[in-house]
Amino acid sequence: MTGTRSILLAEDDAAIAEPLARALTREGHECVIASTGTEALEKALSEEYALLILDLGLPGVDGLEVCRRVRVERPQLAVLMLTARTDEVDFVVGLDAGADDYVGKPFRLAELLARVRALMRRSAAESDDVVIDYGDIQLDARARRVVVRGEDLTLANREFDLLQFLMAKPGQALSRDEIMTEVWGSVDLRSSKTLDMHISWIRRKIGDDQPGRGKHIVTVRGVGFRFDP
Ligand code: CA
Repeated sequence: MTGTRSILLAEDDAAIAEPLARALTREGHECVIASTGTEALEKALSEEYALLILDLGLPGVDGLEVCRRVRVERPQLAVLMLTARTDEVDFVVGLDAGADDYVGKPFRLAELLARVRALMRRSAAESDDVVIDYGDIQLDARARRVVVRGEDLTLANREFDLLQFLMAKPGQALSRDEIMTEVWGSVDLRSSKTLDMHISWIRRKIGDDQPGRGKHIVTVRGVGFRFDP
């Protein structure tokens, strides 16, 4: 249920959430509703969404706290805040927490949908153009550069694609089939062997094989691999 057009709607008031979800679905988005802050946070951090529409007043963890946590752990996820507290201070605080935009309640559906479209366009444009930076290792998708501890690496095309795919989903176990389908476009025995060879080349290049250093690419037994930032 997730992907580049998916929206997570965190709103505890069903009278707002349900019609809004229907409108977003009509616009071609998949929409998932979370009705508490805790649920919103859990979903936002464990699944891939293009946009989080976030009510400020949520039970459990409140919207500001959800926003702050999402900003730290999912910096690429666009956040549109909904707030019934219309004084300016709350707006500023909302944007300080890292929201990309806000809409005051009550809102007109047409206005909200226009903001959603703008944020979705921005997030689609940025996803092609992304720099993934985990401190000691940085990957620039547009320049196709990888820098490890200040040094530029020379990577073959497939090595780069494979590393990019792993780094784009940090902390997630990715299955061999999923990786091969994404990077090689097919799953067969030859590409399975090829996958292991590429993993071992990348590990050597990024320094995972050196003793005393933390390992970025972790083998997940029976599944595949995981990138640990
Ligand atoms: Ca609310």
